Amino acid sequence: MTAGSQPTARALPIAEPFRIRQAALRLIRLDARAFAAMIGLNALAAGAGLVGPWLLGRIIDEVRAGSGVSTVDRLALTILVFALAQLLLVRYAGYVGHRFGERTLARIREQFADRALALPAAVVERAGTGDLMTRGTTDVAAVGAALRDAGSEVLIAGVQVLFILGAVFALDPLLGACGVLGLLGIRFAARWYLRRALIAYLAEGAANSALAEQLAATAAGARTVEALGLQQRRITACQEEIERCRSTRTRTLFLRSVLFPAVDISYVIPVVGVLLIGGVLHDHGTMSLGAVVASALYLRQLSQPLDTILQRIEQLQSSSASFARVEGLGPAPQAPPAASPTPTDDRIEVADVRYAYDDGSDVLHGVNLTVLPGERLVIVGPSGAGKTTLGRLLAGMDTPHTGSVTVGQVPVADLDPDQLRRHVVLVTQEHHVFLGTVRDNLQIASAGATDTELRAALAAVGADWADELPDGLDTDLGHGGHRPDGAQAQQLALARVVLADPHTLILDEATALLDPRTARHTERALAAVLEGRTVVAIAHRLQTAHDADRVAVMEDGRITELGTHDELVTADGAYAALWRSWHGERPPAP
Ligand code: ADP
Repeated sequence: MTAGSQPTARALPIAEPFRIRQAALRLIRLDARAFAAMIGLNALAAGAGLVGPWLLGRIIDEVRAGSGVSTVDRLALTILVFALAQLLLVRYAGYVGHRFGERTLARIREQFADRALALPAAVVERAGTGDLMTRGTTDVAAVGAALRDAGSEVLIAGVQVLFILGAVFALDPLLGACGVLGLLGIRFAARWYLRRALIAYLAEGAANSALAEQLAATAAGARTVEALGLQQRRITACQEEIERCRSTRTRTLFLRSVLFPAVDISYVIPVVGVLLIGGVLHDHGTMSLGAVVASALYLRQLSQPLDTILQRIEQLQSSSASFARVEGLGPAPQAPPAASPTPTDDRIEVADVRYAYDDGSDVLHGVNLTVLPGERLVIVGPSGAGKTTLGRLLAGMDTPHTGSVTVGQVPVADLDPDQLRRHVVLVTQEHHVFLGTVRDNLQIASAGATDTELRAALAAVGADWADELPDGLDTDLGHGGHRPDGAQAQQLALARVVLADPHTLILDEATALLDPRTARHTERALAAVLEGRTVVAIAHRLQTAHDADRVAVMEDGRITELGTHDELVTADGAYAALWRSWHGERPPAP
């Protein structure tokens, strides 16, 4: 599996361990200085922490050797100074680590947004928005928390463990070895856990996504569910997903319930070992009492950083599963592809196009069509014939499985979004107003457009209301600002089309002119936008076909008739029959 490159897979991909490591290293390299500072400060803090037990051992030995109070006071004061130094260093290291985590999280968020926006619409549709939403919220938040807290804490603890073991080895290699042996139990328990945890947490993440998807779909389609009496079926489907969530969570809970008791026992073993062996060595006069006490204190100290590692490792595990899902969206979109092909002219060719949704059977069976520059071509046909599907392919929203859809001999789906927008745009009943100013909303279509161009585009679609806004083009839209009504939102969308200035528009009448309240305004604006462009309209009213240059009749995924209105009426085929039945119900044209 190559992450991010599976346009036909249903679910969004998950990054492989190799790619996760690469991504983590890349993020560290991007902030290498902060990362190095964090490690360095932690090493200093761990070093300062070692001084206390060692000096305590010295005090014991000095007292046994009969040294005076002033020596003990001096050593005790030094312990205090180093303890203070350790406290300050840990604080500062934590601060540096926190900042590193926040910056890296910001990078991950930006990267995720870029990647999500670059996903082809068809991939998102197939995968479902629930999955993308869970990755963008829950998963990114889990990675963020891990980076901010767990990551730096585990690093600090790791450095401490190394230093403490080093110190015990320095005091006596035999006691050091005893400490390491005692820790083997922790290692076995952790390995057992880690082998199972990633899969278990991935399963938990997938179950959460599936439940979110199921609930979102049920809520979004609530009216349909009610109308068709599907409540019980939806409830059962949701219950199944909840059950899957429960069983995946039980599994991760079981893993934790084995790990933690095993670890608790393992902490005690090295301390007991050191006291027993150290005691014997002391009896034989080969080791001072101070060294035995210092070693035992060191190994007692070990439990604190190891506890941190083990508590956080679970978080790191689940967050690395989250990171795999975040990274799964694939590499960030390349900076504008230098060698992006440039269409030679404005001619659109559809050649032997076959298309199927998911793994279903073909819904287009070899469609051939040439759209002539400047013409108004109307596609008619019964519902389910494949008109909308053909429209989506013409607009470059998806690629045909065989055959090609090209503009100026370049496949439309290969054009980058900026280029595509200048050639072909699909006009729908797009009501979405982006948070931001009027200018922001318009410059989406043409980043460099001047105020004069923006005002001209608004004027072209009859958006006079924009002139009366309090801050003109800088007026905020949406929450807290001006709230455009349906007609105004559609005018903004159409003004964007004017600014993108494509030579061809694909117009789905079913969705472009749905709202009767706004239809009157929209029709005028739409007429202005269509002026001077090639238009392929998916028509639901035969009047549109009558006024077109050419009419294509689609039936069962094929174009069965193609010609002018008059030609098709004369040919006396399916279109002629449709026209007669429609026309027969109306008074004859004057
Ligand atoms: P029309 O626009 O002529 O009504 P469509 O292009 O919408 O036809 O549909 C053509 C065929 O493709 C139909 O059989 C429809 O059920 C199927 N279809 C449309 N959209 C999807 C989809 N998102 N997933 C699966 N099948 C689809």
